[in-house]
Amino acid sequence: MRRRQFCRNTFAASFAAAFPLLTACERSQPETIAEATAPADTGIAAISLDGANIELEKAAVNELGAELNGTLMLAGHPKYDETRKIWNGMHDKRPALIAQCANPQDVQAAVTFARQQELLLAVRGGGHSWPGKSVCDGGMMLDLSQMYRVNVDTDAQIAHAQGGAWLNHLDSATLPHGLVTTGGVVSHTGIGGFTLGGGFGRLNRKYGLAVDNLVSAQIVTADGKLRTISAEEEPDLFWAIRGGGGNFGVVTRFDYQLHPFNREVLSGMIMWPVDQASEVLHFYADWHAGLSDELYVGPIMVTLPDGGGSFVGMEVVYNGDPAVGEAEMAPLRAIGTPADDGIKMQDYMVMQTQEDASFGHGVRSYIKNGMVQSFTRELADAVIETFVPDPRLAFFTHTAGGATTRVGELDTAFPHRNAETMIMVGGGWIDPADDEWAMSTARAWFAELQPFTGGYYDNIHYDREQAAGNYGPAQPRLEQIKGVYDPGNLFRLNNNIIPA
Ligand SMILES: Cc1cc2nc3c(=O)[nH]c(=O)nc-3n(C[C@H](O)[C@H](O)[C@H](O)COP(=O)(O)OP(=O)(O)OC[C@H]3O[C@@H](n4cnc5c(N)ncnc54)[C@H](O)[C@@H]3O)c2cc1C
Repeated sequence: MRRRQFCRNTFAASFAAAFPLLTACERSQPETIAEATAPADTGIAAISLDGANIELEKAAVNELGAELNGTLMLAGHPKYDETRKIWNGMHDKRPALIAQCANPQDVQAAVTFARQQELLLAVRGGGHSWPGKSVCDGGMMLDLSQMYRVNVDTDAQIAHAQGGAWLNHLDSATLPHGLVTTGGVVSHTGIGGFTLGGGFGRLNRKYGLAVDNLVSAQIVTADGKLRTISAEEEPDLFWAIRGGGGNFGVVTRFDYQLHPFNREVLSGMIMWPVDQASEVLHFYADWHAGLSDELYVGPIMVTLPDGGGSFVGMEVVYNGDPAVGEAEMAPLRAIGTPADDGIKMQDYMVMQTQEDASFGHGVRSYIKNGMVQSFTRELADAVIETFVPDPRLAFFTHTAGGATTRVGELDTAFPHRNAETMIMVGGGWIDPADDEWAMSTARAWFAELQPFTGGYYDNIHYDREQAAGNYGPAQPRLEQIKGVYDPGNLFRLNNNIIPA
């Protein structure tokens, strides 16, 4: 009984089981621009686009500070250290300047300054880049954290979200109107990087990826121009940003298609002790292919801290009539003897925020992933055989399929339309002394699973060793569009596409 209660408490936040050490690291988003820009009194040592040491003239820096409605921060500014920090505690970098933008005109000024000065430029949306691409040493961090507002046009069923919004700003604005779009599983993730790279979430089988719901956008390109783009206006650029990451400019506004949605959803996590992993994952391998678009089921394998044991789990969300959902998921719930079955009717926002604390800001984290066409019994066996029973590491999945696979391979720049599932190996820890063990163990673990994969999802990847070829047949067009809109490769701190 005590064991069952323990599990219930621990699994209440579902993926809390997977990143159990990290609940103390939460950080809130700054709410206002509180501090005025302090003028530079000397030239500023900086790093150029190609890595050379340069000095920025103080007059030019002060001119930029005066032009911004937001704040220009130099080292020593009271908010400099707070602002330069991003989610992954592995990246402790010190930009020469932080341009905290308040509106699109600020973004235009900051981009123009960086281009004219040939200054290394990092663009920070929500700051969740695993490899730390949204901050840099010696360059400019263009910070969008104050541009987080979302307006919902209920008639047109479109959400207009500023480029620095988080997923919870988007959900919080749309759900009260009975509307939703695909968002990811941790609500403090930025919509910026999330959307530009693809955007997987619990509703993607029904509504597609975030890029599939993007109907238009406003973007500041390297020439400093603010452009409104869509399938009708500058369609090449609009195609490229739907999967091509931050390569093409700074998106100041995303416009998403919304869908009528009942926010009470049958959802939750089922967990089984690890000795039932073979029965559970084999069942999943045989069962998942025929599931409806309404049903999202994602397998995980995790270990609780303090000797709490290892578990195989399924995260389940049914986006539709609960009675139909009950029937469809019944075979899964009948498998083995679960340690806990937490599936119940609950507010979608509970699901969308339940992992926030577990993936708290400041955690040290590493992750690798690969796209798989089918979660087979052979893959299940490999996952079980290679499983590392340590609370610092876990096996996760994002389930795709459904609407995500019905979009043509070259309709957007997102390259992995034939994948049913994304598999991930990674984790989080606090102590820097764990870095080497955790990273080398995760790499070795993933190497055993990699033969089952084809390409990877750039947004959930720490290393870039596979970058060449990951865009498949979209690569030449991306290079050509990059050559048109960013010939000098100003936007290079991303999964970089070299301009044609
Ligand atoms: C805890 C956690 C949970 C996650 N869950 C999911 C998930 O459920 N589904 C999923 O698909 N992904 C998920 N991801 C991956 C996520 O999509 C990427 O990390 C994404 O890059 C985060 O976007 P961001 O704006 O927060 O990142 P940032 O670090 O700010 O930026 C990442 C990259 O995008 C660029 N960028 C950001 N905003 C803009 C903008 N407005 N204009 C131009 N370029 C911009 C940056 O320059 C950088 O290259 C998760 C990541 C984390 C850390």
